[in-house]
Amino acid sequence: MPEIDITDKIGYTLLKKGIIDFETLEKSLRLKDSEENKKNRKNLGQILVSEFGADHDAVFREVANLYAFREINLADEKIDDARINFIKRLVDQLTDQQREMMLQSKVLPLKFDERQPDKLIIIAADPTDKNLPIVARSFNVKKYEICYVRLKDLQNLIERVAPAQNEFLKMLEENKITVEDTAVGEEEALDEEALEAEISKSALVNLFEGCLVEAVRRGASDIHVVPAEGNKTNFLFRIDGNLQLWHCQENTMPEAVMAVIKDRTKNVDRFEREMSQDGFIQRVIDGHHIRFRVSIMPIVTTEFRHKFESIVIRVLDDRKVITDLEKLGLQGPARTYFYKAINKPQGIIILTGPTGSGKSTTLIAALYQVIDPTVNVLTIEDPVEYIIKGARQLKVGPKMGFEEAIRGILRHDPDIVLVGEMRDKVTAETAIKLANTGHLVFSTLHTNDAPSAIARLYKMGIEPFLIAYAINIIVAQRLIRTLCNNCKQPMDDDEKASLLKFGFTEHEIATHTFYKAVGCEKCNGGYKGRAAIHEALYFTKAIRDIILNSGDKVDESAIREQAIKDGMWSLRRSGMERMKEGVTTIEEVVATTTEED
Ligand SMILES: [Zn+2]
Repeated sequence: MPEIDITDKIGYTLLKKGIIDFETLEKSLRLKDSEENKKNRKNLGQILVSEFGADHDAVFREVANLYAFREINLADEKIDDARINFIKRLVDQLTDQQREMMLQSKVLPLKFDERQPDKLIIIAADPTDKNLPIVARSFNVKKYEICYVRLKDLQNLIERVAPAQNEFLKMLEENKITVEDTAVGEEEALDEEALEAEISKSALVNLFEGCLVEAVRRGASDIHVVPAEGNKTNFLFRIDGNLQLWHCQENTMPEAVMAVIKDRTKNVDRFEREMSQDGFIQRVIDGHHIRFRVSIMPIVTTEFRHKFESIVIRVLDDRKVITDLEKLGLQGPARTYFYKAINKPQGIIILTGPTGSGKSTTLIAALYQVIDPTVNVLTIEDPVEYIIKGARQLKVGPKMGFEEAIRGILRHDPDIVLVGEMRDKVTAETAIKLANTGHLVFSTLHTNDAPSAIARLYKMGIEPFLIAYAINIIVAQRLIRTLCNNCKQPMDDDEKASLLKFGFTEHEIATHTFYKAVGCEKCNGGYKGRAAIHEALYFTKAIRDIILNSGDKVDESAIREQAIKDGMWSLRRSGMERMKEGVTTIEEVVATTTEED
C-alpha cells in the first residue's frame, strides 16, 4: 500500500478539529489522488462531503477559513422584497445554461459592497467550486468577492429567488392543452381506439411526468392515483405520513390516465385491467437518479361501464437513505443498547412496528454502521427498496423466490445478513440458524411493541431457548410528526394541567418548555417533518430467563416489567422525551403511542 501523504492542509485541520477521523482522512486522500479523480478534480473537502458523508458546513466553514473567504450569515442580512428583486434581476439576465451552472454550483449574487459600490458580493456554499469564476463572470461586473454562506441558508434563498421549475407542468400551462371531454355515454362501452387517441395526448404525459417531479421535490413517500366518479382522477401525495390531494384531473376517462401511467411503467401490461401488477419507473430528477415502484390493483366501481384501477407509486429516493445512525436520534438507553447490540459478533437485531413506521430506514442505517469491505453483507428483501452500497442485494422475483433465497443464503458464505421481514417459521428459523452460527442478522417483524415480538416468534413455533439465545435486541419504532419551527407556540399555563395527567412531574413541567401546534404557510397544520421514537428491549440475562421459563405462553407483561427495570424506555416515554425537547406535542404522542393501563 502506498504511503499516504498527510500534508493536505484542509485534511489536517479537519482532523485536528475532530470533524473527521484519521481513517476517513486516509481513505479520502487516497481517493483524491486516484485515477478516477483525475477527470473530476474534486478537492478534499468536496470528496469528504460527497463520498464520506461529512457535514457540508463543518467542512466548508474550515475550508473558507483556511483560504480566507469571508463568511456571511444570512440571518444578519436584511433580505427584504427589494433585495429579493435585486437578486432576481441579476439572475434573470443569465442564459439558461448560466443559470443552470449557478444553481448546480449553489451560488447567488447577494448585493453590491457598501464601501465599494462597484464590487458584487457573491455567496457560495462551496467557495472552492471550480465553476465559480465562470458563474461570477456571467453577472458582467468588474469586481466581485466570493463569500461563504451555510448551505441551508443558500438553498432557502435560492428557493425564494429562483424556485425550481417543473418543465412538464410548465409545458402543460403554456400550451394550454386541455384534455378534451372524453366522457363516454351511458350505453357506450370502453372503446380501445378512443383510449389510444387519448393517451397519445401529450397533456396527460406531461401531467404524469410533472407529477413525478413534484412528488420528489415535495418529499412525498407515495403517489396515489385513484379514479373517482364523473370522469375524474385524483392524484394524491403522501407527505409526512398524510395523504394530500395534489391534482384532480377532470373530464378525462380514468382509464386514459391509467393507460398513460401503465404505458410509462416498465414490466406491466397496459391492456390487463383485472389483475394486480407491479412495475417500476426510473427518472433523473434534479440531477438525481430516482426509482419509483408502481403497484396497480383493480378496484370495484358503481359505474359499470368502467374498469377502474388504483395505482400507488412508491418514491424511492436514495438521498433519503440515512447512512449515519446518529441522525436517527436514538435517545437515552435505546441508543446505548442499540450500539451494543449491533457491535456483537453475532445475534439478531429486530426492528418492529406497523407499516410506515420507518423500520427499514433504521435497519439500513444500522447496516451501514457495520458494513465494510472485509465482510460479506447479503440482503434478502422483497422488494428491494434502496440500493445499499457495499452489500450484495439478492434479486428476489419470479426466478428466485424469497423462500429459495432464504434456503440458499447459508451456502453463500455471509458474515452479515439482512432479512427484510421474518414473515414465517422458515424465515425465522433461518435467521436464528444464521445467528447461532456466528452471523449478525438484521430483520423486521410486524408487531406493535417489543415484548409482543417475542410472543409472535413463539406462536410461529420457534423454541423458547432459540428465541432467548439468538436475539440481541428488539426495537419497536414509530414516527411522530414534528412541530414547525416557524409557528410553534409554548403551551399556556392552563393547558399544562394535561401534562401532569399525562405523567410528567412538576419538576419536568417547570424546567422544560412544552409547545403546541399552530399552523402557518410554511407547514401542514403546525407540523413539518417527522422524528422517530423507540422502545429498545435488550436481551439481558433476566429477560432470557423469563423467556426460557415460558410455559405454553410467553408472559409479555413480565418481560415488559423486567425490561423497564433494566432501563428500557417505552414508546410513550420516548415520545415524552421528544416533548421535553420541544419537537412534538402531547396530541401527537397520544395518537402514536397506546399504553395499557
Ligand atoms: Zn408552521
